[in-house]
Amino acid sequence: MSKQRLSRKFWNPIVKNLSPYTPGEQPLNNDYIKLNTNENPTGPSPQVKAAIIATLKNKGSVLRLYPEAENENLKKSIAQSLNIGVNQIFIGNGSDEVLAFCFQALFAGRGTLALPEITYSFYPSLARLFEIEMKLIALANDFTFNLNDLGSNIKSVIFANPNATTGIAMKKKYIQDFLIKNPNLLTIVDEAYVDFGAQTCVPLVKKFKNILVTQTFSKSRGLAGMRLGFAVGDINLIAALNRVKNSFNTYPVDRLASAAGIASLNDKEWFNLNKKMIIENRQFLIEKLSSLGFKVLPSCGNFVLTSHLQINAVKIFKHLKENKILVRYFENSKIKNWIRISIGTKKECITLLKNLESIVNKL
Ligand SMILES: *Cc1c(COP(=O)(O)O)cnc(C)c1O
Repeated sequence: MSKQRLSRKFWNPIVKNLSPYTPGEQPLNNDYIKLNTNENPTGPSPQVKAAIIATLKNKGSVLRLYPEAENENLKKSIAQSLNIGVNQIFIGNGSDEVLAFCFQALFAGRGTLALPEITYSFYPSLARLFEIEMKLIALANDFTFNLNDLGSNIKSVIFANPNATTGIAMKKKYIQDFLIKNPNLLTIVDEAYVDFGAQTCVPLVKKFKNILVTQTFSKSRGLAGMRLGFAVGDINLIAALNRVKNSFNTYPVDRLASAAGIASLNDKEWFNLNKKMIIENRQFLIEKLSSLGFKVLPSCGNFVLTSHLQINAVKIFKHLKENKILVRYFENSKIKNWIRISIGTKKECITLLKNLESIVNKL
């Protein structure tokens, strides 16, 4: 105890009060079926690997040189694929980093931030890091939330769409109406899972100055290990993010990640087939889980949140882990009897279902 106190004496007071985000377990060995961190079950497009090798072989862009300061080429690719301006894009080392820049540049020091009571738990961690006051938006019994009764005094709002952990998506029109009614409130929509069946709000950034959208290459493009994410928004919002980035680390995205991102965006065929596979497997998993007595939320993500009517979630989590299948369990009281399962390959889904069936059959 005294030893611990001693070791903290140089800590900044904010650091003492942090509660950092805990990601899902990454086992060191490969003998688990990993359905706990919403990674893509296949690798990225084969063109990504080719592009990385080509970059290493290209003398003009060897690793001894710093990357392009503004990731111009990757920005061009993103701009083209989303049909927006190059100057409306901000690229970072994973969307977690992009979100951190957003919190610091656009939320901190501006008053209360509203966020759903159940969502990506990185948001409250970042809010504490940047000392931002939070107001939680209550979830209804069906796990949806209403943007229209935020109360007064809210300066910003952030949510994931589809929402993290639940998978439930809101319509673009609903978000657009909210933007129109709240011109002085900044809204950030985290679209980490949008490619799996939700409507993107990217087109809204052309018309509205009070919305920023973030996306990632980690989930639908199978590049979680590369760390690549971005934000799109009005040029004034992007300028604020650049100011923070350039006061902190001018080159967050390395040359290999840039090349990987461009190659990934170019391979539309891989992207569409992979997406289709995951959506089909999700449908298959939802049907089978329901027939085993599980309640499953209607997911637009590459995961489902599910709860068995008679079996405790912790028991299911432990049983699966003993059988080398990792899923995600959250201690949050509202979802303490639920588990989140990432959508794997068809084979992984079948193995998971066999294991769940054996628990259910013991009832
Ligand atoms: C996975 C995830 C992210 C982080 O993505 P990275 O680009 O890998 O940092 C952001 N938001 C949500 C809701 C996520 O689930």
